[in-house]
Amino acid sequence: MERKENENGIEFTYKPSNSVFSDFQLKIIPNDYNLEITEEKNQSIAEFITRTFPEKEITFEIKNKVDFADSGVNLEKITCPHCRREIEFEKWQEEMAKAEESDFIEMEFVTPCCKKGTSLNNLIYDSESGFSKYQITIINPDFDKVNQQELVSHIEKQTGLKMKLVWAQY
Ligand SMILES: [Zn+2]
Repeated sequence: MERKENENGIEFTYKPSNSVFSDFQLKIIPNDYNLEITEEKNQSIAEFITRTFPEKEITFEIKNKVDFADSGVNLEKITCPHCRREIEFEKWQEEMAKAEESDFIEMEFVTPCCKKGTSLNNLIYDSESGFSKYQITIINPDFDKVNQQELVSHIEKQTGLKMKLVWAQY
């Protein structure tokens, strides 16, 4: 596995020779967006994930700050967790830009629909998305072959971490 370090953190890449690049990706991030993963922990996670997807290109990123793991074109609707009304993309982008200035430490805002306090992290994204400091990205996963619940519970069993899946398409 190749290890690269830059100003954003540390990135490990596993790249088997027969892997195929694609704009279809499976991202795996911790449920706890503040969770920090050590290189040692990443090593044991990587051993398990590369065993599960031996033919796929996979990156493991330990980031210095919180980042948004987006689902690309899969994200169509964002909903308020209080009143379930839709939040306009424009409003969301505005709040994202503000939050990004604080490296997503300040994610609180007041919803335009029901005027209640919430966090960007608590909004309902119709295609799972999320914030994290650690991200696994599997390039070109076999969507039909991945048993999502099984994968999530295997990861938890192997690593002791609760993680979620973000399916992204660009
Ligand atoms: Zn609302």
